[in-house]
Amino acid sequence: MSAIARSDAAYQRCIFPQCAATFAVDETHIACPKCGGLLEVAYDWDRLPLPTALRDFEEHWCRRADPHSFSGVWRFHALLPFAPREMCVTIGEGQTLLQRSDPVAEYVGLRPGSLFLQYEGLNPSGSFKDNGMAAAFTHARLVGATRAACASTGNTSASLALYCSVTRLMRAIIFIGSGKIAYGKLAQALDYGALTVQIAGDFDDAMKRVQEVSRSLGIYLVNSVNPFRLEGQKTIMLRVLEALRWEVPDWIVVPGGNLGNSSAFGKAFRELRDLGLIKKVPRLAVINAVGANTLYRLYECEGLRWNGGRVDGEKLSQFYGEMDREGRRASTIASAIEINRPVNLWKCLQALEVCQGVVREVTDQEILDAKAQVGAGGLGCEPASAASVAGAKRLVSEGVITKDELVVCILTGHQLKDPTATVAYHTTDQQMFNEVLGKRGVRRATFANRAVTVANDLNEIIKAIHLYG
Ligand SMILES: *Cc1c(COP(=O)(O)O)cnc(C)c1O
Ligand SMILES: [Zn+2]
Repeated sequence: MSAIARSDAAYQRCIFPQCAATFAVDETHIACPKCGGLLEVAYDWDRLPLPTALRDFEEHWCRRADPHSFSGVWRFHALLPFAPREMCVTIGEGQTLLQRSDPVAEYVGLRPGSLFLQYEGLNPSGSFKDNGMAAAFTHARLVGATRAACASTGNTSASLALYCSVTRLMRAIIFIGSGKIAYGKLAQALDYGALTVQIAGDFDDAMKRVQEVSRSLGIYLVNSVNPFRLEGQKTIMLRVLEALRWEVPDWIVVPGGNLGNSSAFGKAFRELRDLGLIKKVPRLAVINAVGANTLYRLYECEGLRWNGGRVDGEKLSQFYGEMDREGRRASTIASAIEINRPVNLWKCLQALEVCQGVVREVTDQEILDAKAQVGAGGLGCEPASAASVAGAKRLVSEGVITKDELVVCILTGHQLKDPTATVAYHTTDQQMFNEVLGKRGVRRATFANRAVTVANDLNEIIKAIHLYG
């Protein structure tokens, strides 16, 4: 259990410097057994083979027949070498792309060519979660787990269920809050054959229960408290750099839910910087929904900081205590970030420190308008993903992001994940609009593309096309 006993160049370490307990890579912990803190995967880099430059990874491009070179996660194995390459689980994740979008740049207030969308919806299960799941499954295989569980607002469960059905390595057990999951995501979990447990509560309740159940039944937990998940998610940033021909952008903008992604991005840049593989670190903007804004409040309003690991835990306890007394529950149309108790909060604060980060909150109105603009001028995304674009727009209008900067917004999930939100936005059916969006304070569909209703008559149809087309 001690640093002296371990022989592997990869190990697990408590993120808090005053604890700094280390554990072997083949142990499974939900939290630091010594202090209850979060664990991260750490490496003795000087004992590991490293690329001399990021360009060295390009050698994998001509080896697509090798599944580990083809994988958008494992072609960067040298930067997440916690398991032997041949043991790494892949189902073809990470074939994603960075799309330049001038229409979205214009909407955000940036010049043509300065806004890019990292489209993680192209993953096998339709969200960025597959990057992390490939890594978590690799660790699960390392420790011989046979059952895996997660609490999910939808995409983690879809990803877990898919990896189980394709690899047959484990049985999937998913915990979801009632009535909180988008149909596209629920459809996936059911179709892939996962045991689906619907709890009478919300995500934060489900998250608490799944940790208890995992502990008492010894089930492998794949939520992003799992440090191996974050290793896989580091590669999203590596692919962004790859697509920019190894140029580091000025800004990465990402929605914040459980804060696994933002934490993973910060870790990626911290390591790349320490290894001398990049010359500058981009700035990080994490975007909360107004209805689930714990990070925003703590970081921007209360001034909570990582502070080199000397954290103010009391401030956090007070915040949650008040939240419970007031009975505040997370509520936003962006269900993937409808989370009030983000498990990776401390790691995210560390990422914000590494990347000189900022946090903003955006309304459901801003999220849906941004989503419509991404649909009209990008590749389309689910509501939570559009928070990144809405957040970038805010930061440009505040002058925090300046017009000559290069900005990458992460589109975390596919457009088809939540068809209800999209149809409700574009519908002419006022009742549907009110039921889905109006009750959340969304007043107008600024960029609605209304379907045209017309009689079943050739002349009428031709007339309509002339009129609207
Ligand atoms: C999980 C998820 C998020 C939130 O990511 P965190 O790492 O939990 O902050 C955002 N968008 C989508 C589509 C997701 O599936
Ligand atoms: Zn600890």
